[in-house]
Amino acid sequence: MRAMMQCYQLTGFHQELGRSEKPRPEPTGTEVLLRVAGAGVCHSDVHLWEGSYDLGAERKLSFADRLKLPLTLGHETAGEVVALGPDATGIALGASCIACSWIGCRECVACEAGDEHLCTAPRFLGVNRDGGYADYLLVPHPRYLVEIGDLDPVASAPLVCSGLTTYSALKKFGPLLARQPIAIIGAGGLGLIALGILKMLGGKGAVVVELDPRKREAATAAGALATIDPRAPDTATQLRQALGGAVLGVLDLVGSGETATLAVETLDKGGRLVIVGLFGGAMTLAVPLVPMKALTIQGSYIGSPAELSELVALVSEHGMPATPVDRRPLAQAAQALDDLRHGKVVGRVVLVP
Ligand SMILES: [Zn+2]
Ligand SMILES: [Zn+2]
Repeated sequence: MRAMMQCYQLTGFHQELGRSEKPRPEPTGTEVLLRVAGAGVCHSDVHLWEGSYDLGAERKLSFADRLKLPLTLGHETAGEVVALGPDATGIALGASCIACSWIGCRECVACEAGDEHLCTAPRFLGVNRDGGYADYLLVPHPRYLVEIGDLDPVASAPLVCSGLTTYSALKKFGPLLARQPIAIIGAGGLGLIALGILKMLGGKGAVVVELDPRKREAATAAGALATIDPRAPDTATQLRQALGGAVLGVLDLVGSGETATLAVETLDKGGRLVIVGLFGGAMTLAVPLVPMKALTIQGSYIGSPAELSELVALVSEHGMPATPVDRRPLAQAAQALDDLRHGKVVGRVVLVP
């Protein structure tokens, strides 16, 4: 009899994740089998569970037709290589790795440029094929594995999505980071890890805008220069004061109509807004402000496989960002997703089989 594995799967939108057992896969061709050490629970897993994004004005972007259910969630996976297909070279049994889930078709223009995360026909782990809410994960090719050496695999798992997403978004501010503090909207898992990565990049730091007092506290502990409650009537003034003058960079990790509006109205001439969050909603853009203030409004979506390797090198040199990691047994996958959906998670939940 073949060895079995367990996984937690999305079987229908808005339905509690179900536990399944299936035969443990045998890697063929270039495939690599990881024994999962940790699988991060990400906000986009909540969106997958919901089956859509909110575009505002009662419009929704559904991906129900693009997902094949049942699907094992989990796109932030760390583990140990336990089996190799006959053509899988360049990685050794026993290697401790994180799996880059951002796998493209390798044929489209984005993939040819190395931007597999922007592929038009993605094959992402935990989205388009089974992910890491399981005790084993099949990775199609060793090129998607980044060795992490002595780094703690459980703490490293979130580098794959929340780490990479913030790293790639922060890089879009370029030399500004070293010249001036920026504003970060949102101190969830992404906001806290962003503070740590900003420091590693030699940044001047960030002022954090966040509704939840517990998350503001966590942001202070993670090194925020100041924190601001966006419900205050003078949020923009407070932000300008805390940043010590001009507001030239805003990283919006919430991505709601309100947060993007706050950013556009607060940014000074030459300012840049990078939107990462997918909370949803719509904004009315005062169009003349874009040319008059020479604003750049840029979206940032995850990051490339090469950027993930850069990030692991950065973390190996500077140490893991001081983000709280809430380790929970894999059997609590459904509860963890529910807690995240209700805003009850500080930092990052990592499921441990
Ligand atoms: Zn994610
Ligand atoms: Zn592609």
